[in-house]
Amino acid sequence: MAETTDVVVAGGGVIGLAAAWETAGRGLSVRVVDPAPGHGAAWVAAGMLAPVTESTFGEEALAGLFVAAADRWPGFASRLQDATGSDTGFRTCGSVAVALDASDRAAIDQLLDHQLRLGLEASRLSASECRALVPALSPAVRGGALMPGDHQVDNRALVLALIEGCAGAGVKLTSDRVVSVSLDRDGAAAGVVTESGELFQAGTVVLAAGVGTPQIGGLPEGVVPPVRPVKGHTLRLRAEAGREAFPHTVRGLVHGRHCYLVSRADGTVVIGATSEERGYDTRVQAGAVHSLLDDARLLLPAVDEWELLECIAGLRPGSPDNAPFVGPTSVARLVVATGHYRNGFLLAPITAEAIAEHLTGGEIPAPLAAFRADRRVEAARSERPS
Ligand SMILES: Cc1cc2nc3c(=O)[nH]c(=O)nc-3n(C[C@H](O)[C@H](O)[C@H](O)COP(=O)(O)OP(=O)(O)OC[C@H]3O[C@@H](n4cnc5c(N)ncnc54)[C@H](O)[C@@H]3O)c2cc1C
Repeated sequence: MAETTDVVVAGGGVIGLAAAWETAGRGLSVRVVDPAPGHGAAWVAAGMLAPVTESTFGEEALAGLFVAAADRWPGFASRLQDATGSDTGFRTCGSVAVALDASDRAAIDQLLDHQLRLGLEASRLSASECRALVPALSPAVRGGALMPGDHQVDNRALVLALIEGCAGAGVKLTSDRVVSVSLDRDGAAAGVVTESGELFQAGTVVLAAGVGTPQIGGLPEGVVPPVRPVKGHTLRLRAEAGREAFPHTVRGLVHGRHCYLVSRADGTVVIGATSEERGYDTRVQAGAVHSLLDDARLLLPAVDEWELLECIAGLRPGSPDNAPFVGPTSVARLVVATGHYRNGFLLAPITAEAIAEHLTGGEIPAPLAAFRADRRVEAARSERPS
């Protein structure tokens, strides 16, 4: 039987890895079990950290959480860089929302008013002001808004740095799939059982397996929160080697469809994203690629000249109210961190802090405490692709 640890984390995506790294940093022994760490939704994502753009109608309760989450990012990125020597690509770049037609413009204006009412920092832009900020924008762009508080991280660089950081902090990484939680005689979590038949005993079990979380067995009905897969495609292109193509993230509305372009310092650009309810299906579909490229080239005609590097699809862990589930459950010594839907990168540092605090006897930070793992939630509200 494997060595017992203080904590075993099922799932090494951005949430599980960040939680493991923070927890190990506070002196607990931690094991992460995942057949392909970092290669779930985290690998597909665009890495936008967008507290303002993501604060949308019907999700007012999340706006405060998003702002508190964004505040944690500079410190989190610099601590990880100090620990590993790896650059995560965290950049304070801001977003420019742009409209392609008059009704897109009206929709952006409405959202801007809503964001201003929430006290968020954003301002209206004329068409020429949009083009001054992103000169490659199409002359057809009708205007938009600037959200200076939105930022980005290179999602893949981040998960690789977290894997390195975990290894450096003594976290044991086991390449296997968790099939069930093992309970002791009192019904408390005592470890996890894997596909290869190993039992990893631990003082506390953390379930952080993204869309794989509800498939983990061994628990009473209703303990694992209702997380569902929401498929999203992203494309990766090279605009210009070694030089960023444009300085701000572009969040476009194209005849009512959402399309974003995230420009990295190395000259690559991530285009996304679709939002589809298709169960556990990660096949790349031609129609999705076609429509993303079509919308992106309407916003930035230069896209036609760029090299297409990759088309990929992944599954966001969606929750009924689009908010995460973080904290203890009705099963003793069982903690959950999942349901981060379209904002797992934005929410990773605050979630990791919450899990590490809880596991070391502290309190879950206030803005996350409202999103308990054992709350009961109703139907889904809004659908926006990030
Ligand atoms: C197209 C797209 C674009 C996105 N863009 C953004 C963005 O710009 N900004 C942002 O903040 N968020 C974005 N997201 C959302 C973000 O990627 C997710 O919220 C985040 O990855 C969730 O983290 P996670 O660790 O819960 O899940 P994942 O990253 O999916 O990781 C789950 C991990 O669990 C493992 N696992 C699954 N089942 C088991 C099991 N039984 N046992 C052990 N391990 C298991 C998987 O192998 C995987 O490594 C995007 C997502 C998609 C799909």
